[in-house]
Amino acid sequence: MSQSVIDRIKQRTPGETEFHQAVEEVYLNVEQLLKDKPEYTENNIFDRIAEPERTIMFRVPWVDDQGNINVNRGYRVQMNSAIGPYKGGLRFHPSVNLSILKFLAYEQIFKNALTGLPMGGGKGGADFDPRGKSDGEVMRFTQSFMQELSKHIGHRTDIPAGDIGVGGREIGYLFGMYKKIKNEFVGILTGKGQDWGGSLIRPEATGWGLIYFAMDMLAVKKDTIKGKKCIISGSGNVAQFAIEKIIENGGIAVTVSDSSGFVYDPDGIDMEKLEFIMDLKEVRRGRIHEYADKYPSATFTARDKNATSNPIWDIDADLALPCATQNELNAEDAKNLVKNGIMLVAEGANMPTTPEAIEILVAGGVNYAPGKASNAGGVATSGLEMVQNFGGTYWTSEEVDAKLRVIMTNIHDNCLKTAAKYGKEGDYMAGANIAGFIKVADAMIAEGVL
Ligand code: NAP
Repeated sequence: MSQSVIDRIKQRTPGETEFHQAVEEVYLNVEQLLKDKPEYTENNIFDRIAEPERTIMFRVPWVDDQGNINVNRGYRVQMNSAIGPYKGGLRFHPSVNLSILKFLAYEQIFKNALTGLPMGGGKGGADFDPRGKSDGEVMRFTQSFMQELSKHIGHRTDIPAGDIGVGGREIGYLFGMYKKIKNEFVGILTGKGQDWGGSLIRPEATGWGLIYFAMDMLAVKKDTIKGKKCIISGSGNVAQFAIEKIIENGGIAVTVSDSSGFVYDPDGIDMEKLEFIMDLKEVRRGRIHEYADKYPSATFTARDKNATSNPIWDIDADLALPCATQNELNAEDAKNLVKNGIMLVAEGANMPTTPEAIEILVAGGVNYAPGKASNAGGVATSGLEMVQNFGGTYWTSEEVDAKLRVIMTNIHDNCLKTAAKYGKEGDYMAGANIAGFIKVADAMIAEGVL
């Protein structure tokens, strides 16, 4: 029975390996639940959740600075709207394809359910690489992308946000184009600038939320982050603000990376060094080796594409926080983490740890949290931005941060409580998948066969 569900979904979606990986993970955690609650099987809920309500694919033509006409492919996967309008980011990266966006949209369904806010799941983007492009090129591409996307989204229908390659600059261009096309100033996107409808703390929220979640995990073990050495991958939005919160709470962040390699700074990344990283990545859009060029305490290790493991995960530390991209931490890396006695892995990125690696970490006694729980602070604060847009009143940083803190603890506690209830004591992944699944499945049953 179990394998037939997964086989059926695989047959319907050939070649979508990342999507299969995400679906299989959830299935393994809810298999018993499906047996315990026959109404889920009678209503064919698992298969229905794995099928997007709507998938939009479109041509995105744009003119580069040399006058050449280029074409990229744009997408929006509207995965599930059972508990609220579609909500999820846009990713601009050359690796973007339907499989990656479907896995992200699928994960987003359960993540959004866990936040406690009424948001359905969606994801979108394009196989466009903003790296090395001028601001003018990024603007023209983004405007062309929105010309089509604007036909399919709406502030009560589908509210995209940022993700890899889509930060404040891109959200600005997207928002401007939507406003021009529709002649409406509405909260169509989250992650907006603070002078034009954005929420305070939205840029910080994913990284801060990740560290709040990790602190809650440590608190269960009667421990704190103070003095803990943390290895972090990525150097973008999530990594930067995770490092900020680590510093604020007395932890020691010792690495950052990008797709060219990583830097290891045994002296720790302090606020001044973090400001350098933020300027390097968000303003100058440079490469991470420049950190090691500037700070003699740091060493740069170039990425070896043929290597079977990533040496960033072989650095002796207490906490590992993958914050770059999917499947960036494999079985070999997990063995190295276990060998070095890592105590906790919490995911800032979406699905950064392969299934084999998760098994090794858990068997090795590592306290592991899946991204759909530990990185949910970003979308939760996007939900708070939507509430502020609808209400027309805006909260202070302290107010938004206090709400974020409570939401992360609620997600943390919900994972543990649900895991315990279903006989998986201490298993954050099972707790997250089961709690998210139940909420969405019950709403789908209540709303009928759609
Ligand atoms: P970002 O600001 O664009 O930064 C992404 C970082 O990851 C960059 O350092 C980038 O390096 C690196 N990276 C991207 N693709 C890579 C690859 N294939 N191999 C190695 N490194 C790679 O993006 P972000 O918003 O921080 O997102 C990072 C992760 O967090 C993603 O998995 C995203 O889905 C997840 N996430 C983000 C949010 C959010 O609110 N932003 C919320 C929840 C989850 P380069 O500069 O070399 O490309």
